[in-house]
Amino acid sequence: MPSIKSVRGVRDILPAEAERWQRVEDAARRTFEAYGYEEIRVPLFERTELFARGIGDETDIVKKEMYTFDDRSGESLTLRPEATASLMRAYIEHGLHVLPKPVKIYTMGPMFRYERPQAGRYRQFHQLDVEALGEPHPAVDAEVIAMLLDFFGALGLAERLDLHLNSIGDPGTRKAYVSDLVRYLKPHEAQLCAQCRERLARNPLRVLDCKVPECQALIDKAPSILDTLSPDAGRHFLSVKADLDAMGIPYTVNPRLVRGLDYYVRTTFEVKTKDLGAQDAVAGGGRYDGLIEELGGSADPGIGFAVGIERVVLLLGQGDGQGGERRHPQVCLIPLGDAALKRLLPVARAARRAGLRVELGYGTRKLPKELERANRLGSPLAAIVGDDELGAGEAVLRDLKSGEQRRIPLARLVEELRSLSAARAR
Ligand code: ATP
Ligand code: MG
Repeated sequence: MPSIKSVRGVRDILPAEAERWQRVEDAARRTFEAYGYEEIRVPLFERTELFARGIGDETDIVKKEMYTFDDRSGESLTLRPEATASLMRAYIEHGLHVLPKPVKIYTMGPMFRYERPQAGRYRQFHQLDVEALGEPHPAVDAEVIAMLLDFFGALGLAERLDLHLNSIGDPGTRKAYVSDLVRYLKPHEAQLCAQCRERLARNPLRVLDCKVPECQALIDKAPSILDTLSPDAGRHFLSVKADLDAMGIPYTVNPRLVRGLDYYVRTTFEVKTKDLGAQDAVAGGGRYDGLIEELGGSADPGIGFAVGIERVVLLLGQGDGQGGERRHPQVCLIPLGDAALKRLLPVARAARRAGLRVELGYGTRKLPKELERANRLGSPLAAIVGDDELGAGEAVLRDLKSGEQRRIPLARLVEELRSLSAARAR
């Protein structure tokens, strides 16, 4: 029978890679919690309407990328393409706005977008998502950005990443800018790529984001959104930059940096790398002051970011060769025969409860096979018990690198393994 393969654009994370995922998740939790963020977990699917309203009807995500289906009762549901809309829904639904402001939350997990799969771009992918809600002060923007960079720093990636910063102003001035932009682009419409011609009609700001060289040439000469900021938005942007300066955080102001979702205002930012080819954005975020109200909640402002975990894991993989660090056992216990197995089962359990990583053979294989297995697993030690040792209440403790071995009473084995492993870790 033919075997069943996974779905296109969806991938398995095998044990050799999972260690890097755990490192990313641990660094995220530690960093975010130091800044006072708490974890929140929300469902993987929501009513379709939430994303249509929360992300924007005219965005690429809502127009082309959502996994939308009717459930058996005929209700339209969508697998979440991003987390912010779901977090805002939860914030409103559970009245989290009564908590001390800013309300600081984070989540992590899979997102779903129907995109063209390639390296660093998948149909099920994973994000870390962080939101600070209810505080309009520009220092929050700077703190959120600092936290994002600290997260990358904790993974040793800071040197390989650049922070790009922009302000896309307030809705009123942005509208005026968009008509300026359309007025500038219209006469050159024929030179734009097909997608940008479509964007020009639907979501002109997104043209600025196009990577096609012909479009780039035009975009370079387009009016800058930074020239159109309202006095308030201008002051906000100055303040964010000054706060980043105060923390010694370098950034590049990029007036072409616009984000794909409708809800952003004022501060937008992206963290990019030169090491991943076309999929260069590792994280992106910004301020979204009208979103909660738009979704039927309070007039609370918000700011947040999302990190693409696959891309971070790819970067980490380039750093440490290919395999990452597998978790090796610290010892393999090798019983030769069933009686020895019965004697070693409780020893293995005691050693594991003492915090050691222990592999146990089942007494069915010959010693050379067991030693081969121990070597393949990367274990530094083996403790072998045959009939002879069993009779004497001892084990042969063997250093698998040097081949040196000595006998040691079974009653003292766990203690001995603990001190040997502790010495090795030093
Ligand atoms: P891109 O320009 O790469 O399409 P985006 O603007 O659509 O990114 P966001 O919605 O801001 O991305 O998501 C934040 C981060 O999530 C991105 O910077 C990226 O690292 C990651 N990401 C987005 N889409 C995918 C995907 N299909 N596969 C893997 N990672 C993704
Ligand atoms: Mg995208």
